[in-house]
Amino acid sequence: MKKLFKKLKKIMPGKTGLVVAAILLVYAVGVTAAAVIVDGRHVRFYMTGPEELELECFEPYEEPGIYAVSAGSVFGEGKRHLHVETSGNLDNTKLGEYTIKYTTRYLLQEYSTERKVKVVDKIAPVLELKYQEGYQATWMTGYQEEGYTATDNYDGDLTDKVESRLEDNRMVYTVTDSSGNTTTMVREPLYTQGKPEIILEGGSEISLNASLSFNDPGYSAKDSMGNDMTQLVQVTGEVCPYKAGSYELTYSIQSQTGDTVTAKRTVTVLPVNNPDIVSPDVNTIYLTFDDGPGPYTSKLLDILAKYNVKVTFFVTGANSKYFDQIGRAYREGHSIGVHTYSHNYKSIYSSEDAFFQDFNAVEDLIYQQTGSYTQLCRFPGGSSNTVSSFNPGIMTSLAASLTDMGYQYFDWNVSSGDAGETTDTDTVAKNIIDGCSGRRASVVLQHDIKDYSVNAVEQVIIWGLNNGYVFRALDVSSPHAHHSINN
Ligand code: ZN
Repeated sequence: MKKLFKKLKKIMPGKTGLVVAAILLVYAVGVTAAAVIVDGRHVRFYMTGPEELELECFEPYEEPGIYAVSAGSVFGEGKRHLHVETSGNLDNTKLGEYTIKYTTRYLLQEYSTERKVKVVDKIAPVLELKYQEGYQATWMTGYQEEGYTATDNYDGDLTDKVESRLEDNRMVYTVTDSSGNTTTMVREPLYTQGKPEIILEGGSEISLNASLSFNDPGYSAKDSMGNDMTQLVQVTGEVCPYKAGSYELTYSIQSQTGDTVTAKRTVTVLPVNNPDIVSPDVNTIYLTFDDGPGPYTSKLLDILAKYNVKVTFFVTGANSKYFDQIGRAYREGHSIGVHTYSHNYKSIYSSEDAFFQDFNAVEDLIYQQTGSYTQLCRFPGGSSNTVSSFNPGIMTSLAASLTDMGYQYFDWNVSSGDAGETTDTDTVAKNIIDGCSGRRASVVLQHDIKDYSVNAVEQVIIWGLNNGYVFRALDVSSPHAHHSINN
């Protein structure tokens, strides 16, 4: 109101206050009416296009057009076109809001109007994927990026802003410019998508008899292009070959991207059937000698040969100097069985694996000396020992495993007393004779590393032969004289 009043005063200098009052009164009725009535010398702009428009950056601004006319009763409505000047600081290289100002003059008075122009970026960045000649992604390594570039009409290089991810074996790339325009591209790599195959020799289910060792029948692996990947196969799981049961082995290859291919094999370890125990039909003495061979073994073999008596040796690895006596004994018709290689209780009874490792060493020794393995054995300390009690249950477990493998373990029912009770040859002989007297099947415990025990053998043989006893070497069907297992 104040502004308009000022304007009016300016237009009509020198008029009386009364006139001014009249004008104000008229003005109160309405602006249009006032303009028409008082002088009509107003200006009206006619704008083509909107008052607010958007311009894509870098595009030239093209003025949609505007014209101005005088709008008054004096010269006639719209009869006179006025010169319009356009001004403004529009910069189409910078996003932002600009004002275009249109100005005209009419009868010394300046009139203006405006148009808002918003410079915007609505063009999304351009993503270009690079391709390397002959490149082929593999299952093992996954897709290795071949490269890309991203440029935006406004932001310039946006390569650093590109985000890529693997989705269902497709690479998806996205980049967004500062105005929020996003471009997405997808690359489908030439993948050898086929996973490698693991081939199990012998099949996924195998069964074998319990034994001291398990050898995997083998496996191989190759990818869909035929490349050998066997070296990359990892085998997990364990087969306890000496214990009847079912075991699972897993063969797997893991790619560098974390994908895994697996194959499984079930290994069934079957117990070996032992022959039935046959009781002898005559009184029979089974002389057995532990802890040899040693310095007196040869002498013992001479005595046995003299009477054509066959006995059993449960051998150790203690005296390599006398290992050849194992072969001699075998060739002369005696039985050879496993005792222990080390005879170290703490070590062999610490675990089943430790036991069978030691056991296996004796089997190998026997094989070296005789050309064959044995099915006979005797536990160090006997099956009733309590020296193994530091490892509860080990004897029960070992006895079962040996039985699964078809071994027959022997204890004794006649003790010679040569392991501490006496060092007297006659006492040893008496102990044996007393123990065997009237017994159908006598399994006698002696040690051929004790000379006083070896020296008692001839007396025992003479007594036995004179009293109707038969001397025999043990075999798997012989009476085993098992003790009660205490651990
Ligand atoms: Zn022993």
